[in-house]
Amino acid sequence: MIENLLNWLQQNQRLFRDSVLQRDPNLLPDGESIIIFLNLLSVCLGEKGNTQLRLIQSWAFSNIGDDQALANDWLIMIRLLKETISDLIMTDFPAEQGLLYWRELDRGFTYALIEITRLASSSDYSKMLAYIAELQRQTEVLEQSKSNFITVAAHELRTPLTVMEGYAKMMQGLIPPDCSQLELMLDGFQNGLRRLKSIIGDMIDATMIDAQTLSIYFQPVYLDKLLQMVVDKLADSFAERNVKLEVRPLVLKEPIYGDPSRLYQAFTKLLSNGLKYTPDGGQVMVHSAMVRQDEINEEIHGYIDIRFADTGIGIYSSDLEEIFKKFVTKTDVAHHSSGSTKFRGGGPGLGLPIVRGIINAHGGRVWAESLGFDEVRCPGSTFHVELPVRVKMPN
Ligand code: ADP
Repeated sequence: MIENLLNWLQQNQRLFRDSVLQRDPNLLPDGESIIIFLNLLSVCLGEKGNTQLRLIQSWAFSNIGDDQALANDWLIMIRLLKETISDLIMTDFPAEQGLLYWRELDRGFTYALIEITRLASSSDYSKMLAYIAELQRQTEVLEQSKSNFITVAAHELRTPLTVMEGYAKMMQGLIPPDCSQLELMLDGFQNGLRRLKSIIGDMIDATMIDAQTLSIYFQPVYLDKLLQMVVDKLADSFAERNVKLEVRPLVLKEPIYGDPSRLYQAFTKLLSNGLKYTPDGGQVMVHSAMVRQDEINEEIHGYIDIRFADTGIGIYSSDLEEIFKKFVTKTDVAHHSSGSTKFRGGGPGLGLPIVRGIINAHGGRVWAESLGFDEVRCPGSTFHVELPVRVKMPN
């Protein structure tokens, strides 16, 4: 029986080839490769399923490989061949015999379809993986060049700024006693320089945090005293805006190991933000609680949660994490006023990323809570700074 079918297949090979090529002349498999496939079908006839599968797998691997376009065209070609052969079988043989022959051939077609589909989708998959890897690489390059740009820009700006500061100081000594107008102008100039210096400093800090090169110099710190220093520095700004600042004594009296200048920087930013985003007549309060008291080891005796709460405009819940990203400022830029402590006096959006960088480098966490953003009802915001009570110098 197989002999008959084999002969029939061999005799009609060219007919099948010409017929499928006529039906779709634009497919990638050419006449020669169609004949190779038809020969393969003949070889498979009478073989066991496993052997057929192996033969077809090796044909697909060496004739299609990872050529996705070819695999897709072979899927169409197989369908055309199936249709052509099954039509002719039914005209050349009596129905029952034709059906039997067709069953013999159909297994080869099915294996071929499975194998080609597998190749087409696995090359799809590997192409997609390669595409994702390329996208990732491009994003990293972009991030790196962004960060390089900020570093270079910040360093390049610092030098002329220092020169300007020096000249401004020299000019101060030269102002005649009766020239108050000039003194006022020089004052404004120096204020501008100070603001510029702080923005450039923030840019440098933010890039160091990104590059994980921010150095933390641990030493014993009395948090209460540190907070008081920040309060003293900002007291005039709070008074100017008529915002009440209340700092409750911290629950921790003992010193902890931390970097006083970095913590000072972080607390200053949080209190300044509290002031900036609270309308005149409002209030900013600092209070604390001991938390995670069961987390004790040789170096760390639990945590202190310092809360910076204000009665300001609040934050949308969808922005509570977003605001810790670099250059994200959620207030309308049109509302920005120039001062760093003026109501909604917007900045470059580096404050909170720096705060998070500093607190994380201490082994702590910082996050924001708010009932939402509403500049009329002012639901307020609370920033939590959770610091480890470090009783020993870290290694
Ligand atoms: P900047 O103040 O320079 O815009 P920050 O990183 O300090 O940058 O803050 C990012 C954003 O987070 C601010 O633009 C503001 O929308 C929001 N934000 C920060 N602190 C507060 C606060 N206390 N109340 C309300 N919004 C705040």
